Amino acid sequence: MQCRNCDCKHIVRMKRVGFFQIRVLPLFGFYPWRCPECKTRYLFRSRGSKQRKTGARSGAEANSSLQTS
Ligand SMILES: [Zn+2]
Repeated sequence: MQCRNCDCKHIVRMKRVGFFQIRVLPLFGFYPWRCPECKTRYLFRSRGSKQRKTGARSGAEANSSLQTS
């Protein structure tokens, strides 16, 4: 995640506020983000890199590790 306006690499995800962000954005999988430097707001289809818990990926990794060992 990087700000396209000031190249800040620490933009933060905002809490959903209002009807549009709470009701409409989830339908398309968008999340509201904001740059703390220039206050530019963005909509990304990402929740951020800190929360990655995909069962399919972990399963694939477990299978590959079993094959190599
Ligand atoms: Zn910025």
